[in-house]
Amino acid sequence: MILVTGGAGYIGSHLVKELVKKEEVLVVDNLITGHYEFVDEKAIFIKGDIGNQSLLNDLFTTYPIKAVMHFAASSLVGESVCDPSKYYENNVTATIKLLNAMTTYNVKSLIFSSSAAIYGIPSVYKIDESVHPNPVNPYGRSKRMMEQILEDYASAYSLNYVILRYFNAAGALDTAKIGERHEPETHLIPIILQHLNGLREKVQIYGTDYETNDGTCIRDYIHVVDIANAHILALEALLGGAIKNAIYNLGNGNGYSVKDVIEVCEKVTGKKANIEISPRRLGDPACLIASAEKILLDLGWKAERDLEQIIKSAWKWHSKEKIDSKI
Ligand code: UDP
Repeated sequence: MILVTGGAGYIGSHLVKELVKKEEVLVVDNLITGHYEFVDEKAIFIKGDIGNQSLLNDLFTTYPIKAVMHFAASSLVGESVCDPSKYYENNVTATIKLLNAMTTYNVKSLIFSSSAAIYGIPSVYKIDESVHPNPVNPYGRSKRMMEQILEDYASAYSLNYVILRYFNAAGALDTAKIGERHEPETHLIPIILQHLNGLREKVQIYGTDYETNDGTCIRDYIHVVDIANAHILALEALLGGAIKNAIYNLGNGNGYSVKDVIEVCEKVTGKKANIEISPRRLGDPACLIASAEKILLDLGWKAERDLEQIIKSAWKWHSKEKIDSKI
């Protein structure tokens, strides 16, 4: 059985949809940002927080857990700047409790969700895993701290981990059964699509004075199902002994500016966006593009869906689900 923390969240729930085809799955989620209805019905679901020691004891003594996939985390850069305590508590303190429980109950395999935010403001155009981490916001620092803690646990307690550093996750299941729903929403693609769906007045561009071609920030957008598939491959390789203590970027390898993304959303939806230029958002690096060659070489994974496919799937989801709460 595989324990998936945060399995009711955006990326976790998409992973669970794939994982239940191959493994028994136990989802734990406190449902603060996750959605119960996103959890596949074939998974066992327990509502709870991984910072809760007695819950962890119950989980590891009740279920035959052979590996953990740890998605549960706070993940908003801007919020982390205003409320760092929440990020160190949820992403570091609670994760250490999870690791200690794994050590106590002799569960040695972990897939850890990390982020491109650990790179900070990189000096290279395409970032590979050898680029020195230098996070510039508390979210990125909380993820980098955990990566370092994992290294120490691996050498001291024989933990075997795979760290996956996500670039910008977006998109939805092709069936539009589940998709991206954050309350309140802060991510670019859902914000544009909510606007084009009539649920927001405008789209704000946070900064047009970056040193990029059109002055707006560049990101590498990756389909959430591609991310889910990378997790399955990583888990199989980890449990099969093919890899251990490995770090991989998950990205498409292509950079799109905020203006590019708005253009593709307009093309996919056939609607015109009302745009407002706003000041920069705190903690945003100008450009983050992955080199994902390493995971291609080791596991044969590469992103299969491009930005247009990502936005098409997200649009299908948004058209089905007019998300109007707390906007
Ligand atoms: N962004 C924007 N307007 C928005 C939301 C985001 O201009 O309403 C920009 C943001 O500054 C960043 C990019 O879009 O450069 C992607 O932001 P998002 O929050 O989606 O992901 P992040 O890169 O912060 O993980």
